Amino acid sequence: MNRPLIISDCDGVLLEFIDPFIAYLKAEHALTLRLDSFALTGNVRDASGNAIAAEAFPPLLDGFFTTHMPTQIPVAGAVDALARLATSCDVVVLTNIADHHAVARTAELARMGMPYRVIGNNGPKGAPIRALLDEFQPSTAVFIDDLPPHHSSAKKHVPHVHRLHMVAEAPLRALIPAAPDADARIDDWAEAIEHIISILETER
Ligand SMILES: [Mg+2]
Repeated sequence: MNRPLIISDCDGVLLEFIDPFIAYLKAEHALTLRLDSFALTGNVRDASGNAIAAEAFPPLLDGFFTTHMPTQIPVAGAVDALARLATSCDVVVLTNIADHHAVARTAELARMGMPYRVIGNNGPKGAPIRALLDEFQPSTAVFIDDLPPHHSSAKKHVPHVHRLHMVAEAPLRALIPAAPDADARIDDWAEAIEHIISILETER
């Protein structure tokens, strides 16, 4: 019997993103990000308070990952939870990030105690999850992500995979409603690890 497979997002689930990104915007670009709604693009503003143009956002994100990825710290409990799961499961990190950043991210995660395979993705995650299931043929699988559209995509492509909606970053918790297509919403790893283990035991 193959091992279970844990497929986890990175930003907002394994690593803090919002606070380091806000610090980068301020330090490197004199920009602010205030999250009144869950929209990164429209909430980045210059010193005059004007929202930056939508096309200015991708280069900022790319710059952050190029120079400031090492400022991202693990979400509380993530390292220990994955280490515990990895004793009996395969663990893959599925992150929407360019391929060359995925290489750096692999090293960063390993440096912080998360030495797992990292897959850089672009767009909805259902199809890449399907590909991982084809590759690993796991006994059971759990998918963890903070963004509701990825749960919808997963439900469409791999409805049998357990979908855990986790918004680990405090500034986002109130802004992101429970994903309608997820099976559960748990925002911290202390509770999530027990839930995941119970799912693995039930579906074994
Ligand atoms: Mg995320």
